[in-house]
Amino acid sequence: MILITGGAGYIGSHVAKQLLEQDRDIIVIDNLSTGFQRTIDTLQKIKKFDFINLDLNDFEKVVEVFEKYNIETVIHFAAFSQVGESMQNPMKYYMNNTVNTTHLVKCTSVYGVKKFIFSSTAATYGEPTLKGSEQTITEEFDTEPINPYGKSKLMSELVIKDEAKVNKDFKYCIFRYFNVAGADIHYEREELLPRVGEAHDPETHLIPLVVKTALGKRDAISIFGEEYDTPDGTCIRDYIHVDDLADAHIKAIDYLDENESDTFNCGYGYGYSVKEIIDSVKNTMKCDFKVIKGERREGDPSTLVSDNTKIKEKMKWKPKYNDLGLIIKSAYEWEKNLK
Ligand code: UDP
Repeated sequence: MILITGGAGYIGSHVAKQLLEQDRDIIVIDNLSTGFQRTIDTLQKIKKFDFINLDLNDFEKVVEVFEKYNIETVIHFAAFSQVGESMQNPMKYYMNNTVNTTHLVKCTSVYGVKKFIFSSTAATYGEPTLKGSEQTITEEFDTEPINPYGKSKLMSELVIKDEAKVNKDFKYCIFRYFNVAGADIHYEREELLPRVGEAHDPETHLIPLVVKTALGKRDAISIFGEEYDTPDGTCIRDYIHVDDLADAHIKAIDYLDENESDTFNCGYGYGYSVKEIIDSVKNTMKCDFKVIKGERREGDPSTLVSDNTKIKEKMKWKPKYNDLGLIIKSAYEWEKNLK
């Protein structure tokens, strides 16, 4: 049995979707604080599974879940993920992301869980200084997070690694995500609407905000800073389609049967600037909208692009949807139908 925490959220729901499509047995824990019941209902239509509406801070109830089910793998997404909010309210992040993860890891140890797959972030690298021709970030880079969100995830990584040092039956895969975007890709195959996608409240991420603007749900998109040290002056990010990212998690389940625990960057290895994203939405969706000059956002590094050699070589992960037009189109189709 595979336990997914945060399965009603953006990335967790895509992993749940893929596992259910493969007819695997899962259970989902989510407190629906940022995830949605409607996402669970949609997933149940693929294949039935047990959904437990539970906050991970309810330790007694979490233990009951481990008592009840024979859990072999935990895929842990449940967390808060807004950098800005973490600066305002660090305890919210340390309690939910770090303390609750620590308790979950303790349960895995007590109940003999063999595999732990953890959703981490490129925010653990902080503001890496790229030297000379070095333009991408490898897993060997120093981890010096600059906000409580990145710190809360890095601390969780350390807890997981320490447990694995003493518990030889426990293996982990840590994935450091770059910028995740897009929605359920099945509409490409079957010309159906995306079943799951991104819906944050408030939305702070670039691609959904640009897509909302293209759809007329917002008046304008604001560019946060145009004087960065990049070719067009706007920040560069490595945008990965959520279904390719989900696939890495699925691969990790089998990978850990044969291989040692490890940490992997998840990205495509090249980046787009904010202006390029805006132009691409205009071109792909053949529309125009208002773009305004905004202030820099505190804590935004100019360039964050992954070196993904390790995940490709070791895990044989092959991106399938590394096409910006496709990412944008799936995000657009999802957003268009989002109430
Ligand atoms: N950004 C922007 N306008 C917005 C939202 C984001 O210019 O309304 C920029 C942001 O400064 C960053 C990039 O878009 O350089 C990606 O931001 P996002 O919040 O999507 O992801 P992050 O890289 O912060 O995790």
